[in-house]
Amino acid sequence: MSRGGSLALVLASANPDKVAEIADVLESVLDVVLLPRPDHLPDVAEDGDTLLANARLKARALVAATGMAAVADDTGLEVAALGGAPGVYSARYAGEHATYADNVAKLLGQLAGLEDGGGERRARFRTVALAAFPDGAELWAEGSVEGTIAAAVKGDGGFGYDPVFVPSDGDGRTFAEMTGQEKHAISHRGRAFRGLAVLLARRTGT
Ligand code: IMP
Repeated sequence: MSRGGSLALVLASANPDKVAEIADVLESVLDVVLLPRPDHLPDVAEDGDTLLANARLKARALVAATGMAAVADDTGLEVAALGGAPGVYSARYAGEHATYADNVAKLLGQLAGLEDGGGERRARFRTVALAAFPDGAELWAEGSVEGTIAAAVKGDGGFGYDPVFVPSDGDGRTFAEMTGQEKHAISHRGRAFRGLAVLLARRTGT
């Protein structure tokens, strides 16, 4: 569906941190109108066992509820020393109603004593961004960023695990010490949504 030539997409996320990042990235590269997820819709159980499955669940539920094209993303933090955990369970790492701070504290506890030098604190953020359409079509792209988990929290920006994630492509600062633009330029979400934007532009000719 398009509005005045723009592609209209309903956003599955109600997380204001994520919505702001997605809007920043998509609106900078695509003629798109992003519509908020209607308030009355119940949360979708994110019980898929992959990022792709969860992104699809969220986007499809929204297409079914609104009859419009929808976009969703799912992100996981994969820590090498933890065998890829928390991965798809990143939001609930410290329990069902865990706060960002709870999750970060648990992660730092799990990695206590591991030195950075040998690469034992290596980690990766991975995002799948998916657009689903009422005609059944879907487009998706993945983005990732490699980095390490810092020994302690640093910075006030971003959200989630940002205060402990130091991207390898950066200058030693955590994501939480960067501006939004600096983070988007190299982040998992920035890369996934720029990839999705290319596919959307091809589909819609915008
Ligand atoms: P979600 O399932 O995509 O909402 O993401 C799972 C969890 O990963 C979130 O609750 C956040 O704690 C964390 N997360 C997602 N994206 C980011 C990010 O860009 N930086 C830091 N943490 C993130």
